Amino acid sequence: MDQNISELIAVSRQYGADKSFVIAGGGNTSFKDDKSIWIKASGAALETIDENGFVCLSREKLKIVSSKTYSQDSAQREAEVKADLAAAIESTGNNRPSVETSMHEIIDYPYVVHTHPTLVNALMCSNNARPDCLGIFGDQALFIPYTDPGYILFKKVETEIARYTSKFGKAPQLIFLENHGIFVAANTVAEIDEIYAAVMDKIYQKIGEPLLSDKPKPFSSSVIENIERLNSGFQNFTAIGSESELIHYFSKNSSSFLKADTAFTPDDIVYCKAYYLFIPSIANDQDQIETAKTLIAAYLNIYGYLPKVLVLEGQGVIAVEENIKSALNVLEVYTNILKISFLSENFGGPKFMNKGQIEFIDNWEVENYRRKMAKS
Ligand SMILES: [Zn+2]
Repeated sequence: MDQNISELIAVSRQYGADKSFVIAGGGNTSFKDDKSIWIKASGAALETIDENGFVCLSREKLKIVSSKTYSQDSAQREAEVKADLAAAIESTGNNRPSVETSMHEIIDYPYVVHTHPTLVNALMCSNNARPDCLGIFGDQALFIPYTDPGYILFKKVETEIARYTSKFGKAPQLIFLENHGIFVAANTVAEIDEIYAAVMDKIYQKIGEPLLSDKPKPFSSSVIENIERLNSGFQNFTAIGSESELIHYFSKNSSSFLKADTAFTPDDIVYCKAYYLFIPSIANDQDQIETAKTLIAAYLNIYGYLPKVLVLEGQGVIAVEENIKSALNVLEVYTNILKISFLSENFGGPKFMNKGQIEFIDNWEVENYRRKMAKS
């Protein structure tokens, strides 16, 4: 195997295996030479990726995405872009290239490692994301305000990279995306590691209060019974619960829950949906379970699907999915939301996605594809 591809696989696995950088199936990596780009396939997991988890595309053919005028209709446009990506594929197999392929293509360095680190997102999902990012990283950082993912985000990043490059005489190696994550670009894998280590260190220095523990504490037997009763009340419903110091901080009452009641990033929506359900504490267990069932039914009525995250006042969090694997993913992603919310207080407090941004993701076919892959 080509040395560069071996290094790409190694760096992908390294960051993919580290939960503080990559949660569930998120993040993507690439290597490019003059002619081709190798990028993670959509739905592949970085942690266990091998040669077959990458798609190789022609860089010449990818150029069309920059220059072509696409449909004004967003669904139509994304379908057209997808077809152009598919036409640029050089490798065999059925893999679909990451939706962020065009973005990797325009970043002018051989290696690109895109992740959603908890520390970075504590800054990126905060009210002071832009000023604090530029304050900490100065001219080294290119900050991109939240933009709907896909083609629109690609065009935005393309414009901003061009602006940065003409201003500083070199392409940016550090691109921060508000309510999303970070792209690190470099000539070598060693340089990727150096940049990431410096980024984490600089943000960490700004964190005042240490993060609360997310080590699970046991539920009381009455809560466990309630989860079992909930499990039998709905179809395709697998609930698993968790309680920790961190979870308790956000579940202790309805106002603490407001700091973790919706999504920070598109990935949060992919795994947990955008809105989380608070179940108030009621003296009698039987009444609480009935209240929970009523609230879940009302949620189902409004959104058309079951809630994925239930926050039980004073008790903990329950993740709901069709199977255990997906439920564990929900729990992991929601716990990460709690961490980001807690740490964002160092940067002016949490800033969630707004309704329009959430709707765009909910309607996005590409994300539905990823969700399907995550379940399998
Ligand atoms: Zn991303």
